[in-house]
Amino acid sequence: MSVTVRFAPSPTGRLHVGNARTALLNWLFARRHGGRFILRLDDTDLERSEEAHAVSIQSDLRWLGLDWDLMDRQSAHIPRYRDAFECLRDAGRVYPCYETLEELEFKRRRLLARGRPPIYDRAALNLSDDDRQRLEAGGRRPHWRFRLDHGDVTWDDLVRGPQQLGAGRISDPVLVRGDGTFLYMLPSAVDDIRHGVTHVIRGEDHVVNTTVQIQILRALSHPPPAFAHVPLLTDLSGKGLSKRIGSVTLDSLADTGIEPMALAAYLAAIGTAEPPDLCPTLGDLARSFDIAKYGRATPKFDEAQLWHLNARWLQTLPWDAVAARLHAMGLNRADPAFWNAVRSNLERFEDVAGWYAVCFEDILPIIDDPEFARAAAELLPPEPWTDATWSAWTAAVVRVSGRKGRALFRPLRLALTGEEHGPELKTLLPLIGRELAWQRLTARNARTSQAMPPLAHPVRMADAAEPGPGRGRG
Ligand code: GLU
Repeated sequence: MSVTVRFAPSPTGRLHVGNARTALLNWLFARRHGGRFILRLDDTDLERSEEAHAVSIQSDLRWLGLDWDLMDRQSAHIPRYRDAFECLRDAGRVYPCYETLEELEFKRRRLLARGRPPIYDRAALNLSDDDRQRLEAGGRRPHWRFRLDHGDVTWDDLVRGPQQLGAGRISDPVLVRGDGTFLYMLPSAVDDIRHGVTHVIRGEDHVVNTTVQIQILRALSHPPPAFAHVPLLTDLSGKGLSKRIGSVTLDSLADTGIEPMALAAYLAAIGTAEPPDLCPTLGDLARSFDIAKYGRATPKFDEAQLWHLNARWLQTLPWDAVAARLHAMGLNRADPAFWNAVRSNLERFEDVAGWYAVCFEDILPIIDDPEFARAAAELLPPEPWTDATWSAWTAAVVRVSGRKGRALFRPLRLALTGEEHGPELKTLLPLIGRELAWQRLTARNARTSQAMPPLAHPVRMADAAEPGPGRGRG
């Protein structure tokens, strides 16, 4: 069977990690099965939908690496929804209702006060033609509800397993508002038919909608697709699609330096029992994708883990994957030796500029004991320098100063790099070169370690376990 899936955001805000995960799972499923991935903008709510959001959703998806085989907008297909609505009306499956919001709210509260579930009482089904004419003459416009069959609706959910939901436990859903506009429920079912959607993969907040949509599809004489409802992402406290998750937007993650592939690997892994798979491309990730790996346990979004993964991802990148980016940042002397030396010390790609400065530009060294630093400078061997230079030089410094261990290495690192931690000096030293090393070890304007201001750039790997972006970049 050829597979067609869709990601159907409403363009009412920026994409957050929760909806990005839904998009990603659909995309991976489509690519895994050689199928189609459709981007459908659910924009029938004209008041809340904005073109700016439609644009940003597309650019955020592209940033994540997703492409689509078709993009569609519901606002372009209103006549089709009208046709489907008429079909349901002819079949007696929709009925006009006239209650105001206040009246509905009153009924709801009364039921709740009696300890009963707040299900719509279908009072409108008892209206006579006269009643309706009177209400309309009084200025009321009908909204239309779908009359559910009160039997059980069943489906075999690809994530949740066999499902059985009693439709009698939910209100007949409103399909059309008083102003004639469509709510989400019917257009979505119509589009799933129109696009030949075979699998609907979405958050478990839609389980009740699935009960309704299966009935709508059957009423339109169409077999339902397969469904997979994944548990919603929560923050670490276990709160559902909370304000916290809602505020973790893709653009905010991109701005703080999260790499799209690290995010994709992370979002694809949470909710499964497997560790994130840091493969080079989304296509590689798709090859091992299996929707059955997703369980019912709540996936928790842990930003600290994501940052840790980001650092690990950067470490995996070969020179070819970063050369153009480094040069675009103006780091023209960067070469494979430089990248290999520093890549395991980056939490975000931009940190590379700090190590570039350490290797090739002016930095402020840190010197607590100028005499020792000067003596070490005098022992710098002549160039060319190689990986062996560091140990030859420090052996000479040991002989002259008698220092060893931390008392030897720390002051040399602070003077040469202006940093407490960083890449192996063995690999950095040949990049720094004799001239800069000499200047730094003999600098008159050096800082002392007591007066170290917050670091301007590199982040140590040890920091990767600490929470969140914006935390000490040093
Ligand atoms: N527009 C709906 C939403 O954003 C789509 C749900 C669906 O996938 O059917 O929740």
